[in-house]
Amino acid sequence: MTTSPITEPALDRPDLFIDGRWIAPSDGGVTDVIEAATESVLGAAASATPADVDQAVDAARRALPAWRATPAGDRADLLDAFAAQLKARAKSTAVLSSRENGMPIALSVGVNGYAPSMMVAYYADLLRRSDTADVRPSTLGSRTIVRHESVGVVAAITPWNYPQSLAAMKIAPALAAGCTVVLKPSPETALDAYVFADAALAAGLPEGVLNIVPGGREAGAHLVEHPGVDKVAFTGSTAAGRAIGEVCGRLLRPVTLELGGKSASIVSADADLDHFTSHLAEVSLVNNGQTCHACTRILAPRSRYDEVVDAISSTVAALTVGDPLDKSTHVGPLVTRAQRDRVRAYIEIGRSAGHRLIAGGGVPEDLDRGWFVAPTVFADVDNSARLAQEEVFGPVLTITPYADDDEAVSIANDSPYGLGGTVWTADEEHGISIADRIETGTFGVNHYALDLAAPFGGVKESGLGRELGPEGLTPYLRFKSIYL
Ligand code: NAD
Repeated sequence: MTTSPITEPALDRPDLFIDGRWIAPSDGGVTDVIEAATESVLGAAASATPADVDQAVDAARRALPAWRATPAGDRADLLDAFAAQLKARAKSTAVLSSRENGMPIALSVGVNGYAPSMMVAYYADLLRRSDTADVRPSTLGSRTIVRHESVGVVAAITPWNYPQSLAAMKIAPALAAGCTVVLKPSPETALDAYVFADAALAAGLPEGVLNIVPGGREAGAHLVEHPGVDKVAFTGSTAAGRAIGEVCGRLLRPVTLELGGKSASIVSADADLDHFTSHLAEVSLVNNGQTCHACTRILAPRSRYDEVVDAISSTVAALTVGDPLDKSTHVGPLVTRAQRDRVRAYIEIGRSAGHRLIAGGGVPEDLDRGWFVAPTVFADVDNSARLAQEEVFGPVLTITPYADDDEAVSIANDSPYGLGGTVWTADEEHGISIADRIETGTFGVNHYALDLAAPFGGVKESGLGRELGPEGLTPYLRFKSIYL
């Protein structure tokens, strides 16, 4: 395979975006962003020091009173202008993000390209339709005004796997609610985060309303603890989420945590296997398996077990692995060498545990550059195995047999996580009855796709709180009751 050559000059973004201006990091620090498919330097992004984070929080605090006081209609108009600027950049943003993290372009166009502008427009529209206060009859016979106030300065911390969507899921409702934001994106995908700054400047968002400070864990931890921050919104690993939750607990600081997952796909005995396998890549191997809600555990009925295993094996073997910028690619490279090594170590765990390898298991022969791992499937995996319990975050699936619905539900729920899941069945009512028994924040019947108008988030170790939908606005509001 030939990976896409770098046709543009390296993208360098040596400055932070603070108070509507480009400001060099106090120590001049930059971090290289490496292209996942070529292992070449794609560009360098500024790396914020704690002192830079202080500046960004100060700017957000200064901008807060005026932004909070801006009438909802005016804020919505500015958000629409911001959405239009993001949309105008959608195609190039999608390409840039795919080059950073290896996401197949067919997926990236939607989730990195167009989704952010859709989310901003969605919350602008919701803002126009929402009350900023309501007056209720009081239980004491008089009236109470309930004001919906912005929570204040938001620290938004995001991972590399869906860098644009996951940032927009926080920025859009926060700005709509009248909050100001400091975004700390992941160093692996810092370059695409600057698109939000370019769009904010072009749309005329007031200075300091949105600030962007790429950096590592130290910058993130400093931001979470900062006394000028009123709320933290985090997406990332369960380990980091737990650490952030502990700090926020100590500080009594509101926090939203979108964390890891290990979701199950239940193939019912009446499933249309062609339909199931035609969705396998997008549901179970989506974004090269680097997806929190990927259904990486497949539960197959004993009555059709061999048939399901064969169908999965031939489907996965036929997937196109390669250049993420090629529209026909199903599986691209993993984000970093470390991530590739971690996933390969899990494949070795599967082999040594004696699971039956039915697809993949190594690096595709013709892909010696880029962090590729062949989509891999192990069958006959007991749900207690490490491979079925731990989040691999790569293209590695397990197949586990079950006897009846009760056992399928019990296996699906036997996980520390609770984020997504699917059921594949000819009977939608049966599918909904299974969905009602699964302990997760989201679930798909015969497909799985996030709905911007519905809440997304997890239970158990998959996190706290919800993003998207009207429910995604509430964490950025605080309610004040004025008793008359
Ligand atoms: P990560 O937790 O290592 O890092 C995520 C972000 O948090 C990065 O910006 C990082 O710099 C920052 N960070 C790390 N430790 C921190 C700390 N102690 N304080 C403050 N900031 C800190 O995660 P990752 O490897 O970038 O992303 C992969 C993980 O994200 C997976 O576990 C995946 O399941 C999860 N994820 C969850 C969702 C969801 O919505 N539930 C979505 C996407 C990814």
